[in-house]
Amino acid sequence: MTWGVPWGVPAGRQSTLRHHVTIAGVGVHSGLPATITLHPAEANTGVVFMRCGTGGQPDRELRAHFRSVTATEFATVLGDKNGPAISTTEHVLAALHALGVDNAVIEVDGPEIPIMDGSAAPFVAAIDQAGIIALAPSRRYIQVLKPVRVAKGDSYGELRPNLRGLRIETEIQFDHPLIGRQTFAVDLEPDLFRRDLARARTFGFMRDVAKLWSAGYALGASVENTVVVAEDRVLNPEGVRYADEFVRHKVVDAIGDLALSGASLIGAYRSVRGGHKLNHAVLTALMADRSAWTYVEMPETRRPRGHAELGIGFALPAYGPDVS
Ligand SMILES: [Zn+2]
Repeated sequence: MTWGVPWGVPAGRQSTLRHHVTIAGVGVHSGLPATITLHPAEANTGVVFMRCGTGGQPDRELRAHFRSVTATEFATVLGDKNGPAISTTEHVLAALHALGVDNAVIEVDGPEIPIMDGSAAPFVAAIDQAGIIALAPSRRYIQVLKPVRVAKGDSYGELRPNLRGLRIETEIQFDHPLIGRQTFAVDLEPDLFRRDLARARTFGFMRDVAKLWSAGYALGASVENTVVVAEDRVLNPEGVRYADEFVRHKVVDAIGDLALSGASLIGAYRSVRGGHKLNHAVLTALMADRSAWTYVEMPETRRPRGHAELGIGFALPAYGPDVS
């Protein structure tokens, strides 16, 4: 375990990007082109989206925070009292969070974050290009103290205590011969995210396309940015990147959605037949129950050396979580 701390950044310290970096593409839902620039930001900024290029209107600043979520249908949309502002935030947020970048400003000149190849890998590459540096203040974590569960129909999600860091357990079940039931569980760390998760792409079913298009979704979707699942095969000529690419992508989505806690979660998240809506509902339920979580810091002076000891350095609450 590395607690999401990137190489070169001392454990327990905040981080940001060393340089800015720009990437461009189209939105998978809007089909509209957009350019985003990831900028370094001061400690305690968190991740902030800056929606610019709105035709003479002032730029809109939106915290990457669960309270900024305005919609969760097929993507996580952030906005404010003036309405939705930026769609499909989850993959860039997953990449920043998984690589341990606490502070960044994401400047966006369109209504949707570009989908790139449908995965988080292009954002990982951009962050690697920019570099990551340590900042002086301590990183703040949100430690889950007791289980919080949300059920919706045949899906459910829960966050429970897990002192080893952020763990994601995801199960999907699709009535489709190519997918069926898939499960994936992971204790998040940067190298593992790069290797096992970052390249997993967005997926969609041919059978849903007409319905999605008529509702204004997936207008920019193609085999360039989506694993397109037909009745008996994947339409992408190159096939899938992992045999269980579908569930791995759901893990990426969950990491991006949980990053909207505004801190690093210390807890285990389990999602069964869920998606953006469930991820948001569980995080909202956790944060609404003030007895279910607490802020903790890992003071640098108490930083443990060995992986097995990593829980020890945390300033744990006196009443103690359920660690069994
Ligand atoms: Zn996704």
